[in-house]
Formats: sequence, C-alpha cells, structure tokens
Amino acid sequence: MFDTLSSRLDKVFTSLRGRGRLTDADIDATAREIRVALLEADVALPVVRGFVAAVKERARGAEVSASLNPAQQVIKIVNEELVAILGGGTTTVRFAKTPPTVILLAGLQGTGKTTLAGKLGRWLKAQGHTPLLVAADLQRPNAVNQLQVVGGRAGVEVFAPEPGNGVGDPVRVARDALAHARRHVFDVVVVDTAGRLGVDEEMMRQAADIRDAVSPDEILFVLDAMIGQDAVSTAQAFADGVGFSGVVLTKLDGDARGGAALSVARVTGAPIMFASTGESLEDFDVFHPERMASRILG
Ligand code: GDP
Repeated sequence: MFDTLSSRLDKVFTSLRGRGRLTDADIDATAREIRVALLEADVALPVVRGFVAAVKERARGAEVSASLNPAQQVIKIVNEELVAILGGGTTTVRFAKTPPTVILLAGLQGTGKTTLAGKLGRWLKAQGHTPLLVAADLQRPNAVNQLQVVGGRAGVEVFAPEPGNGVGDPVRVARDALAHARRHVFDVVVVDTAGRLGVDEEMMRQAADIRDAVSPDEILFVLDAMIGQDAVSTAQAFADGVGFSGVVLTKLDGDARGGAALSVARVTGAPIMFASTGESLEDFDVFHPERMASRILG
C-alpha cells in the first residue's frame, strides 16, 4: 500500500511542531511528498508540476495557525486546491430552454458509455424527466441489444434502428431519434455513440457527424478512471476531435486513486458531472469534488 499524503506529511513535520511559520526547506520537503503522493495517485506529470507549484506558493505565504499543526495546514491547502480544480461543487446537465435536451455520450470503447446511458436514463427519470435513449453505437455488435437491456431495466424507452432502416448509419439513427423524441414528447435524448479501443480518426469523425446532426446541448466525455496517465492524451484527443462540455468518470469502484479526475479537469477545464461506481444502474451519482479530493489524498 502507498502511504497516504497525511501520513507522509506527518513524517515531514514531526520535527517542526510549534514553529510559527514554515521555512522554505519545510515547504520544499512538503512539496516533494505531495508530488510523490499525486504521482502514485496517477495524476499526469505536467498536472502534478503545476499543482505543486501552486501549493508551494500558497504555503509560503501562510501563517501556521494555532489550531492546525503544519501538516494539517498544508493538507488543508492541498485539499482546497484539489477541490477547486475538480470544479468546486457539483455541476450537472444544463437542460435546454426548449426541450428536448440532447446529451451525446463520447468515449473509448469499454469505458462504460452504454451502461452510463441506462444510469443517466434512470437518474433523469428520477428527476421527473422523460428520457429517450438512442442506440447510435452500431459498431459493437451487441451494443444496440445491450442498450435495450439497460433501458428496460431503467424503465426508459430506447430508440434503435429498425432492421433495414438506417442500419449501419448512426447519424441517421440519431436524427430519426430526435424527430421521434419531438413527436412523442420526450424531453431529454441521450445518444450512445460508438467508441474504439484507442483514439481513432474514423470514430472521431462519426461522433462529430452525429454531433453536427443533432446539435447536442451537452457532450459528455466518458472516461475510465483506471486509465491513469493516459487520461490527458485521450481527453485531449476527444476535446480536439469532438469537443465536450462535461466529463463522466466510470469504474470508480476499482482501486484507481482517481488521479485521472484531476488530470482531465485541469487539462480540459470541463466540469466532471457524474461518477459511475459499478455495473448496476444504482452505482451512479453526481460527482462530488470533495469526495474525490479525499480519495486522491488517501
Ligand atoms: P461502452 O463500450 O463504452 O459502451 O462500455 P459498456 O457500457 O459496454 O461497459 C463496458 C464494461 O464495463 C461492461 O462490462 C460494464 O458492465 C462495465 N462497467 C461500466 N461502468 C462500470 C463501472 O462504473 N464500474 C465497473 N466495475 N464496471 C463498469
């Protein structure tokens, strides 16, 4: 097991209890520990560098307060900086003034998009919405069927291509689904799209074509939290290829410390909106920056 940041800092600070102010040497020693802890949590290196520099700057100016020992003081600063980068508070879908609100899901294959569509459907329904899930992932042989299964479990209607009608053309499916939603008064449309195992031009083009056909109100980039250091390059590729307005982290039930969250929030500036924590529909919540900050700190 890795040392938590708290226990690391406690070790650094055992010798300096009772001092009025942190010296530069104390701050350097602290910064080293923070750096190691963040790298162990799989935060991308450039993000770690920027973060540590910001914390050092704040720690240098900070008076050591009477109520906190120096380790606690630094942890407080680190925690505040983490929460700020992770968005400060919860952010979720901005609904369109004129329904339907269109939400497009994009991300690599296997990240959990189809599962997420079901979870979002269930969540939207609980908020009083009437969502429609759209099977525009026609790449993966079982994706349409899988969406129908999760839609059934969530009690949410699924729009899938009729055999012989639009099969193989996800843009057409998405467009038809939007027309269907307007006719049948669905107020939120969640479009599942195809991913590939790696970043791929054809996949990006297809997602961008669907985007252009349905003008989504939100594009959610779905990111597997286990991806670690690759979070930055993958997020950047999707930001350039499709663009996105929010992030969903999946597989947070795994043992990843969540560094990917910090990396993607820092590099893209997009808010992390939701967290997926398992395979069943209930394993889902809005994203809470403070909880993630605690997880990254260990
Ligand atoms: P897609 O290719 O992006 O549509 O991904 P899927 O929705 O098919 O998910 C891929 C696999 O990951 C499936 O076996 C899901 O059950 C599983 N999965 C999805 N979300 C989570 C999650 O939050 N935690 C865990 N442990 N598994 C997940």
